[in-house]
Amino acid sequence: MAELNLILLGPPGAGKGTQATRLTEDFRLPHIATGDILRAAVSAQTALGKEAKRYMDGGELVPDSVITGVILDRVAQDDARDGFLLDGFPRTVEQADSLGTEIEKRGRRLTAALLVDAPDDVVVKRISGRRVNPQTGRVYHVDFDPPRLAGRDDDDGSELVQRDDDREETVRRRLAVYHAQTEPLIDYYDRRGLLRRFDGTASPSEVHSHIRAAISTLQREDEL
Ligand code: AMP
Repeated sequence: MAELNLILLGPPGAGKGTQATRLTEDFRLPHIATGDILRAAVSAQTALGKEAKRYMDGGELVPDSVITGVILDRVAQDDARDGFLLDGFPRTVEQADSLGTEIEKRGRRLTAALLVDAPDDVVVKRISGRRVNPQTGRVYHVDFDPPRLAGRDDDDGSELVQRDDDREETVRRRLAVYHAQTEPLIDYYDRRGLLRRFDGTASPSEVHSHIRAAISTLQREDEL
């Protein structure tokens, strides 16, 4: 089978991360999650992290010049040779152009852009209820997946926290940014015949099986 070079698109909170975890296991692809890369850089207080933090805390996008090089280098690494799953990149038309140019230069092409969509009110409820264990990264939800003891991690009892960018006002800002800057990518990939749409309000298992079926179809088409 040819490479599986996939992009996950969709608003924050539509379930891209959950799907990414499952799909990278199914297809043995590296999961390249821009938000995670940036948060790790913020914790480690690297130059990238220091630059990114002020944008992230406000729900704004980090400038293309700051993020694009980091992700393109990541895609060029050995473990992504047979494919990758990009989660959270590209987020602007400029990023999409840079990605397209870079991978074409290497004789590669995108397999599909998987859109996991959900309406704003669903997203706000999902994200603003998220709580994380800052030590392990385990994520809970106050309504949908609460810990046994409110505010405490089930495994190590750590105090759970709300990520700065998960606060409701920041979520609304992130959504506005998504609609203005990232949503145009739906058309962008649709025009290139790469877009596949999935309903992010369905259960994670349903979304997963729909995406798997779509990828299997793409793989079969590729073999013909
Ligand atoms: P995420 O966890 O993917 O929602 O990302 C969290 C934050 O990281 C976003 O709100 C942005 O500030 C920043 N970020 C993540 N990916 C990108 C990207 N491709 N371009 C610019 N900023 C990004």
